[in-house]
Amino acid sequence: MHQERVLAGETEPAGPCPDEAFLRGVARRSKTIPLSDPRIDHAANCPNCMKRLLAMRQNIRTERKKLALGLSAACLVVIVALIAWSPYRFRHRQTVATAAPVSQTVDLWNTGTYRGEQPGPLQSVVLPAAPVRLTIILPRFSSPGQYLVAVTRDQSGNGVVAEGFASAAASNGQEKLSVNLDLRSTDAGAYFLSTTHEQDQAAYYYPLQIK
Ligand SMILES: [Zn+2]
Repeated sequence: MHQERVLAGETEPAGPCPDEAFLRGVARRSKTIPLSDPRIDHAANCPNCMKRLLAMRQNIRTERKKLALGLSAACLVVIVALIAWSPYRFRHRQTVATAAPVSQTVDLWNTGTYRGEQPGPLQSVVLPAAPVRLTIILPRFSSPGQYLVAVTRDQSGNGVVAEGFASAAASNGQEKLSVNLDLRSTDAGAYFLSTTHEQDQAAYYYPLQIK
């Protein structure tokens, strides 16, 4: 074998030994070194250069193995994290999906309502940032029928964060309705609860706090 003959000193290298940087380039099979370079011919026939090249190639192989190991370790970490995380997410989603709405009753029976920007006596309503089953006792003299209930950012009906339709029915002489409002993604803060009768389209706004 040529390599053994070179290492045994049986060949005659032409020219001086090239520097370390050049040998490193050859060891890495650098594309910037043309095969016609006479230093390659020298290295292929010089026992010293051959020994150094073989040692460099060994180092490169070791480095590549380490890199591959490092990469697979990193992949493993990512996979473990994904596995550990997904059941949590799944369980979390399940919890949210199956969470029963929080039942809340808002009694507006004795509440003065105000329309648009007209101020009036206010009753503050507090709701949690959760799925809410809201039962509303409508103010005195309210009409039966279909209502749109909404949670809005202002008292002009802008910035609706949740809404639902419900029919008001009389019970004990009061008009009551129940509506599901999903307030899970609503930030805590000041809002308005509005009721709009489908027929007269008059919207009434009540200050609302979401906590
Ligand atoms: Zn040499």
